[in-house]
Amino acid sequence: MLNQLISQVLPYFPQKLIWQVSKNYIAGENTQSAIAASRALNQANIMVTLDILGEFIQNLDQAKANRDEYIDLINTIEQTDVIGNYSLKPTMFGLLLNKDACFEYMRDMVKTVASYNNFIRIDMENSPCTDDTIEIFRALKKEFPKNVGLVLQAYLKRTRQDIENMLDLKTADAALNFRLCKGIYVESANIAYKNYHEINANYLQDLEFMFKNGIYAAIATHDKPLIDGAEALIEKYDIPKDKYEFQMLYGVTPKQRQKLVATGHPVRVYVPFGKQWFGYSTRRLKENPAMVNHILKAMLDRG
Ligand SMILES: Cc1cc2nc3c(=O)[nH]c(=O)nc-3n(C[C@H](O)[C@H](O)[C@H](O)COP(=O)(O)OP(=O)(O)OC[C@H]3O[C@@H](n4cnc5c(N)ncnc54)[C@H](O)[C@@H]3O)c2cc1C
Repeated sequence: MLNQLISQVLPYFPQKLIWQVSKNYIAGENTQSAIAASRALNQANIMVTLDILGEFIQNLDQAKANRDEYIDLINTIEQTDVIGNYSLKPTMFGLLLNKDACFEYMRDMVKTVASYNNFIRIDMENSPCTDDTIEIFRALKKEFPKNVGLVLQAYLKRTRQDIENMLDLKTADAALNFRLCKGIYVESANIAYKNYHEINANYLQDLEFMFKNGIYAAIATHDKPLIDGAEALIEKYDIPKDKYEFQMLYGVTPKQRQKLVATGHPVRVYVPFGKQWFGYSTRRLKENPAMVNHILKAMLDRG
């Protein structure tokens, strides 16, 4: 209730105050600050995935501008020593406006990244986007087998079937590469598990299925029981270090992240940045008021 209230009034708080909280989770407004944050993480033996923050778009000109911004980012980053790849959200390129145009813009970006032998991860947004996002992923994966991956959400009841349906995309020299996360959006109980234990059980079942089928797993979680469960599966199936990585969000549970690095696991941090940080921060908080708890908790305990 208090969370709900705080998240509703947050957009009316002064930007400066919101920035005090957001700066822990966002690597600044521009590419230079993202590079600085990435280098600091790289020095701690952590890879990055860079994400340009965006708001909802109203027309395809905005989608095109977002594509151009990403291509500039890729061309800039590839001239640096940053060890990382890229994440993007399909709605920023018009998924909800014109699927074909969105595909073309996403193809332009994957083609650019492929020219550097690098990789783009397609984030998964809320459930109205799931089918179209998978369809775009399928087409891109066929054309650029080594340069594109997808996110799947363990809270969705359909996810296991989605993984099975995509097994045909596996080729001899290019595995499937999925980031598995719990899922951040508010979804109906008809299609999504709502209970913490159910979500976690489903997460580990999906992850086990991925390992059994030779799928590269990006294990995206800060939840200790899930990290423990994932480590047990890595041991059980003797998964080599080039077949998985752990992923966490910028600024979240840094001590836990460092422990994974110290244990020898590959670790990557999701580094969001960009001019649109304010709308992004407040929208995310409104979508998921439980985040306020995370933020308040993280402000008190940076562990
Ligand atoms: C690299 C990465 C990429 C992601 N990409 C997507 C995506 O494409 N689509 C999607 O729907 N979701 C995405 N997510 C979000 C994900 O779905 C979860 O909502 C989020 O990670 C929280 O779940 P958890 O597994 O950490 O477990 P939880 O049980 O939610 O959290 C466990 C503990 O971690 C800490 N924590 C978790 N999140 C935060 C936070 N934001 N701030 C502070 N502390 C926190 C808290 O201490 C909490 O108690 C991504 C997450 C990561 C790490």
